[in-house]
Amino acid sequence: MTTIVLGAGAVGTATAWYLRKSGHDVVLIERQPEAAMETSWGNGGIIHASEVEPWSQPGMPTKIIKWLGKENAPLLLRYRAIPHIMRWGIEFARNCTPERFRENAKSNLHLALHSLKSLQEIGAEAGIDYDRATRGVLKIYRSRDSLDSAQRSTDYLAQHGLLYERADPDRCVELEPALKDTKSTLAGALYFARDEVGDSNKFAQGLAAACAARGVQCRFGETIEKIETRSGRVQAVVTSKGRIVADTVVVALGSFTAPMLAKNGIRVPIYPVKGVSITFKRAAWNAAPTMPLIDDSKLFGFVPIGDRIRISGSAEITGYDMTPAPARVAAIIANASFTFPELKRYFDISKSKVWAGLRPVSPTGTPIIGETRIRGLWINAGHGHLGWTLSCGSGRVIADLIDGRDPGIPVPPPQGVVVARAA
Ligand SMILES: Cc1cc2nc3c(=O)[nH]c(=O)nc-3n(C[C@H](O)[C@H](O)[C@H](O)COP(=O)(O)OP(=O)(O)OC[C@H]3O[C@@H](n4cnc5c(N)ncnc54)[C@H](O)[C@@H]3O)c2cc1C
Repeated sequence: MTTIVLGAGAVGTATAWYLRKSGHDVVLIERQPEAAMETSWGNGGIIHASEVEPWSQPGMPTKIIKWLGKENAPLLLRYRAIPHIMRWGIEFARNCTPERFRENAKSNLHLALHSLKSLQEIGAEAGIDYDRATRGVLKIYRSRDSLDSAQRSTDYLAQHGLLYERADPDRCVELEPALKDTKSTLAGALYFARDEVGDSNKFAQGLAAACAARGVQCRFGETIEKIETRSGRVQAVVTSKGRIVADTVVVALGSFTAPMLAKNGIRVPIYPVKGVSITFKRAAWNAAPTMPLIDDSKLFGFVPIGDRIRISGSAEITGYDMTPAPARVAAIIANASFTFPELKRYFDISKSKVWAGLRPVSPTGTPIIGETRIRGLWINAGHGHLGWTLSCGSGRVIADLIDGRDPGIPVPPPQGVVVARAA
C-alpha cells in the first residue's frame, strides 16, 4: 500500500509521520533539498490555540476595501491580485458572518488543542530539539475597547477549552519586564499560558529524519509535475525524476495545492497571503524580551526562539511572489521598536535574515482535510496563519480518515472540495 505525500512543509512531514505509524509505505516528495524550506521556514514560531480565529471575520471585507492601495495596511490586497481572487473573495466574505466566524474558530480550536497534544507526543517520541519554549504568549492591547472585544471573543472559545488570563498593565510588566518603557500605552493583555513556541523548520527537519529512520522514503530536491488518475482513481505521481505509482496520494503543498490540483480539474479555494519575518541573534541584548508577545494594535509577533529573536507580521495578497517587500519590513521594525524602544540599539538589518512566506488561506480560515472526488486523492492544506499550530493534529486526523478511524475531533468544513465517504 504505497502512499505518497506531496510537500514536506510542517503539514506534509506530520502527515508522513502519522501515515507511517499507521503502517503505510510512505514516500514523501519535496522540491527543496530539505524539509520546511518554504512557508514553514520562517513563520512566527508560535503554537497558538489563542490565535484560532479566522481572518474571515465580521467587518473584515469592509476593512480590506478601505485598506486598498495603502502600503502600511495590516492586510493589503494588491489591485493586480483582484481578478484572480474574485470567487475566493466572495466565499471569504460569506464566511464573515458572526455565526460562521464562531463555528470556524471553534473548529480550529478543536484541531489546535488536538495538535498541541500530538506535537508534544511526537517531540517526546522522536526526541526532536526544536527550541521549544513553554512560557505561553502575551497578547497586548492599547485600547480598552479592543481589549474588551478580544476578551468577549475569547470567552466564547474559553467555553470550548481555551484557557486565558486577563492582565492589567502591571501584570504585563511582571510577565515581560521589557514592556516597562511603554507600560503607559497599554490597556492590558490577554495571557495564554498554554501556548508554546518552537522552530517549525527545525521540528519538520527533525521529523523528516525520524520518518526516514522509520522507513519513509524521503525524495527531496524533486519537483512534482502532475498527479495521474484513471477512472476516477488516483494512479501515480509524475516528478522531475520519474513516475511513482500509488494507491493513495495526499496533497500537502500549502499555497501550491490549488495550482497542482487545478491540473486534475479540482478547484481548491486556497490563495496565498504573503507575510514577512525578520530573524536575528539576541547576542548582546541582555534585557531582550523573553516572553513571546503579539501586539494587537501594531500587528506583529515578537518571539524569542532559541538564541534568536523573530519579529513577524504583514499580510499581503499579491499572488505567488515570495519577495519580502521593503516597506512592509520597515513597518514591522518600526512597530516593534515602538513597543520595545531598546530594539533600535541592538538591531542591525544587515545581520538579520529577512524572509517572506505564503500563508495558504482558505475562505473559512480552516484547513481543508479530506478526500477529493477522485478516489485515493486527499488534501491536507489551507492552514493559513495557523499551519505550525495545526500541523501535527492535521497529520494525525488525515491518517485516521484515510484508515477509516474516528479522529476523535470534528473534521474541519469540506469547503466544496472534500467528500465524506466510508473507508
Ligand atoms: C510571516 C508568517 C508568520 C506565521 N506565523 C505563524 C505562527 O506563529 N504560528 C503558526 O501556526 N503558523 C504561522 N504561520 C503560518 C504557517 O507558517 C503556515 O500555515 C505553514 O507553514 C504551512 O505549512 P504547509 O506545510 O501547509 O506549507 P509549506 O510549508 O509551504 O509546505 C509546502 C511544501 O510543498 C513544497 N512544494 C510546493 N510545490 C511543489 C512541487 N511542485 N513539487 C515539490 N514540492 C513542492 C514546498 O517546497 C513546501 O516545502 C505564519 C506564516 C507566515 C508567512
